Amino acid sequence: MAALVPVPKKGSYNTGLSPCRPSTLRALLGEPRGDYGEDCRPVTGPFRSRLVTADVGPFRVTGLDVAVDSLRKVMTAFRKADPEAYASVGTAGMLCARLVRGSAKTISNHSWGTAVDLTFDRRLDVMGDGMVQLGLLRVRPFFQAHGWYWGAGFAREDAMHFELAEETVRRLLA
Ligand SMILES: [Zn+2]
Repeated sequence: MAALVPVPKKGSYNTGLSPCRPSTLRALLGEPRGDYGEDCRPVTGPFRSRLVTADVGPFRVTGLDVAVDSLRKVMTAFRKADPEAYASVGTAGMLCARLVRGSAKTISNHSWGTAVDLTFDRRLDVMGDGMVQLGLLRVRPFFQAHGWYWGAGFAREDAMHFELAEETVRRLLA
C-alpha cells in the first residue's frame, strides 16, 4: 500500500471542502499555547480539556474530541469497505502544537488536534513530490465522506495529511 501513484487531478477530490483556517480554529477553540517551534510542544490553551486519547480502530491517537470521534467513523467505514488497505494503515500523529513545516509564523492545524498524518506499511509519504501512496488514495473517499480535507490539495502537496475541513469545523464546533 506504500507503492506510489500520481496525485489525482485537482478538482477530482476535496469536493466542497476547504482547508481549515487557523483563525477559525483560534476563534472557536482558543490559542493552543503561547509560543511555537518546529517541534511538538504541550497544549496549554483553553480547549485542552477537550483533548482525548482513544483507539480509533487501527491505532490510538490524541486529538480534539469531535475529530477523534469522526476519525473513528472514517476508519470503521474504511475497514468494512477495504480491509486489504486498512491492514497497512498507521499514524504519524495527530495532536502536535507546532508551526507549519517551512513557515515562521503559521500554526499547524495539528496544534488543535483536528489533523492526522497517516502511514502505510509504516512508511511516510514524501511531501511535495507529486506522488502519493496507493493506500492514501484508497482511504481518501472515506475522509471526504466525513468532511476531512486531504493535504494533497495544498500548494505544497502533503498527501499523508488529512484535516477537518473549514466547513466541517464550523458545523461540529458551532
Ligand atoms: Zn499533517
